[in-house]
Amino acid sequence: MAKQPMLKFVTVERDMPEKRGAEARREDFHEIYAEYADAKAKEQASRCSQCGVPYCQTHCPLHNNIPDWLRLTAEGRLQEAYQVSQATNTFPEICGRICPQDRLCEGNCVIEQSGHGTVTIGAVEKYITDTAWEEGWVEPIAPAQERADSVGIIGAGPGGLAAADVLRRAGVQVTVYDRYDRGGGLLTYGIPGFKLEKDVVMRRMEQLEQGGVEFVLNCDVGKDIQFEEIRNKHNAVVIATGVYKSRDLQGPGSGAKGIVKALDYLTASNRLCFGDKVPEIESGELNAEGKRVVVIGGGDTAMDCVRTAIRQGATSVKCLYRRDRENMPGSQREVQNAEEEGVEFLWLSAPKGFAGDPVTAVKVQQMRLGQPDATGRQSPEPIEGAEHEEPADLVIKALGFEPEELPTLWNQEELAVTRWGTIKADFTTGQTSMPGVFAVGDIVRGASLVVWAIRDGRDSAAAILDHLNAAQSVAAE
Ligand SMILES: Cc1cc2nc3c(=O)[nH]c(=O)nc-3n(C[C@H](O)[C@H](O)[C@H](O)COP(=O)(O)OP(=O)(O)OC[C@H]3O[C@@H](n4cnc5c(N)ncnc54)[C@H](O)[C@@H]3O)c2cc1C
Ligand code: SF4
Repeated sequence: MAKQPMLKFVTVERDMPEKRGAEARREDFHEIYAEYADAKAKEQASRCSQCGVPYCQTHCPLHNNIPDWLRLTAEGRLQEAYQVSQATNTFPEICGRICPQDRLCEGNCVIEQSGHGTVTIGAVEKYITDTAWEEGWVEPIAPAQERADSVGIIGAGPGGLAAADVLRRAGVQVTVYDRYDRGGGLLTYGIPGFKLEKDVVMRRMEQLEQGGVEFVLNCDVGKDIQFEEIRNKHNAVVIATGVYKSRDLQGPGSGAKGIVKALDYLTASNRLCFGDKVPEIESGELNAEGKRVVVIGGGDTAMDCVRTAIRQGATSVKCLYRRDRENMPGSQREVQNAEEEGVEFLWLSAPKGFAGDPVTAVKVQQMRLGQPDATGRQSPEPIEGAEHEEPADLVIKALGFEPEELPTLWNQEELAVTRWGTIKADFTTGQTSMPGVFAVGDIVRGASLVVWAIRDGRDSAAAILDHLNAAQSVAAE
């Protein structure tokens, strides 16, 4: 086991803090913490064996050059480490915080595989980039030359923003349209503030704005402006709208008061992080305080709901999932975090109905795992007669998301979609069935990950630059 650096080894020479007031004590804390974090990052980075078969890198969707930036961090060359890290990732401090590293880079670290515990790659990535922001190493967006052509991006989530960043740095005029009042997509209104601080997201929004990206917010494409108008206005369009249609619950009593959608619940809680007035929190409708909460679902959204409910002061929080722990889609690390915080998991449990209006209980059907389906995954099936009621004052439905029917909503029958309703697009370029129209992120992949949306945004931006250059060459002939 590597030795943990301890705070007592940090020497900070200064006057007695208690004589200098609260502000000084806070400064001291940050300084001590920074030194501690620095020691911790170097210690972790130096654990990398530079194995030469960087599975961590191949399993990172951005193929980040992890071994190199770990080595540079271990050598104390942080600015260079940051340069290497940001070369392949538009938002490294965000990925460092919220990538499911246990399924990606860290899960494939050879030290983890040999049973010695992974190098904490995500934490080092976060540390390097947070330091870069503090030290002023993060370069503003300042194109060497302006271009006349413009790109309209629909959706200000990580996919749209990653594309905006690459295009703007190349001098393209970029306008991002979003139906919310703030940019960031699920980084802002989905993922809770205890996992991803909102100022970290807003700092990136400001960087893009200061670099010349125009944001048109509170603008729902299909309602406030038509898709056709955006298409006519720009040389290319990127659709980065994510997936927002919540899967619903059936069963008697499923329409009762007190049964709410996960995203409504998380959005309300995230708005509080911004200091917004949120009537649904004040009225108790979307507030878990003093309530027995049951969350239905086993993905990352369910984990965010249970952990938010704990923080809001719920009297009990239970998570109902129809398969077992090994077969749940969410990150095992998240489950462990939730358990440590006091969440109880009811495995092999499915909702059969609800009692009361407002809701007073979930009727739970006990399940077992049956034969594997076509994908090889065992299907849950009910155990006859095994039912019970789980008391609840607030039930949160976290059953996943599907795409909205964009061709119909936007009156674009030409826009080809898959049988799941996601947009059909080339996985490398994002090119859709419509010339000059590209698509990235969840609207192409289905509910996925931030790091994949970033990858798509970057790849598609590169393809769009080729498309714009080709169009310019034709015009010049
Ligand atoms: C609760 C929750 C927690 C998650 N936690 C994690 C996590 O910890 N780690 C991780 O990697 N991934 C996580 N994910 C998944 C991740 O957030 C998504 O994969 C990622 O945000 C997808 O990016 P995107 O840019 O495709 O779409 P989004 O982030 O969804 O952004 C789409 C944007 O398009 C806008 N939009 C949609 N329709 C229109 C329209 N008609 N007009 C104008 N604007 C429109 C939306 O307002 C939104 O801002 C989580 C998802 C959820 C729901
Ligand atoms: S982007 Fe995500 S997967 Fe890649 S190195 Fe960073 S934390 Fe790991």
